[in-house]
Amino acid sequence: MKFEDYHIAPEIKRGLLELGYKRPTDIQFKSIPAILKGEDVLAIAQTGTGKTAAFAIPVLNISMENKRARRPEGVRCIVMVPTHELALQVTDVFEKIGKYTDVKILCLIGGVDQSPQIDQLEEGVDILIATPGRLFDLVSQGHLFLNRVDTLVLDEADHMLDLGFIEDIHDLIKRLPRDRQTLFFSATINETIKNLAYGLVRNAIRIQISPNDPVAKKIDHAVAYIEMDDKRFFLERIIKENPESKILVFVRTRVRAERVSKAMQKVEIETQTIHGEKEQDDRIDVLNQFRSGALKVLIATDISARGIDVPDIDYVINYDLPEQSENYVHRVGRTGRANKKGVAITFCSKEEIPTLREIESFLDKTIEVMEINKKDYSYTLESTFDTDTNWQKLMLDDEKAQALKKKKKR
Ligand code: AMP
Repeated sequence: MKFEDYHIAPEIKRGLLELGYKRPTDIQFKSIPAILKGEDVLAIAQTGTGKTAAFAIPVLNISMENKRARRPEGVRCIVMVPTHELALQVTDVFEKIGKYTDVKILCLIGGVDQSPQIDQLEEGVDILIATPGRLFDLVSQGHLFLNRVDTLVLDEADHMLDLGFIEDIHDLIKRLPRDRQTLFFSATINETIKNLAYGLVRNAIRIQISPNDPVAKKIDHAVAYIEMDDKRFFLERIIKENPESKILVFVRTRVRAERVSKAMQKVEIETQTIHGEKEQDDRIDVLNQFRSGALKVLIATDISARGIDVPDIDYVINYDLPEQSENYVHRVGRTGRANKKGVAITFCSKEEIPTLREIESFLDKTIEVMEINKKDYSYTLESTFDTDTNWQKLMLDDEKAQALKKKKKR
């Protein structure tokens, strides 16, 4: 069935057409009719399946119908998400699909000035996409009223729990009308998530996409055994051999992100980093560069990973293994989005093998090994542009130089 045959507003169909969405993905096929009927939904779907549009399409349609019925003004739908990046990405999907509708959409996140947000709220907003912090700030300041909300969407609920937002979710629920539609989306499921979900939804339609294979089929993912100190040479090689490709590199910490970026700079590879400690404006700017293709290599930490919706990422490189197994799924899910193929390569050092095994047991399968023979391994180390092999010393030199610069500035 094509979108053109759906019972949805022509304005929405036009938005979908412009986006190039012709047919629903699996999750969309299963959830759109149920949501349109007003049912609660509990969906377990990994990233990259089209889950955002799975709720955005029907929610926009419902908002349009509500307007036609001339119901009172006020926020009618709240989409709660865990991170700023995801909020921006979800807003972007709503805005594109809703481009030809008159539904008012607002993204409410912290780290940016709140006055324009307050102004927009005063003018009237139908759908609010928010992270918990700013949402509660504005509720407590009396700028936002939740008594007219009739649809609640929780997106990436598992990630919200990881980030410790459980209290916020419960707080929000207490303030919402009991009679509402709840759409609960999570990439993974466990006992805690189940308990949270069943406390929120009523007679929900359950939808589960590829429960036994959390990594989408169109993603080729493999592990390469590479020693910690050699990883940068392999990254250099992959980037240089694929100059036109968009590559997303994952590291464990902010410090690692900066280090890897410096290592690439030394071999004349331009990269940018994105992590929780970057200013919001910088993060948005870097993501836009990456999206437009002006930037080819982005180095990210897990915290910033879920919001990265760049449809044409060719490679995901796990430079470090993720500490939480679920994050493996989220990381590799950045490539191979919608109908595109993707490749994910994990660099695993000796010390990281236990973490790799944990990930495999989470996936319930072993990850294919990308064999690197000895000759190829040494060739990679030898062919680097980096002539100074004393890496530790270089890092120290660099830190000293930075300190000196700061001193001089003072
Ligand atoms: P999501 O799982 O919501 O993060 O979406 C993953 C990607 O799929 C995004 O890049 C969307 O633009 C794309 N997408 C979603 N639905 C469709 C569709 N029906 N046809 C083609 N692409 C889609």
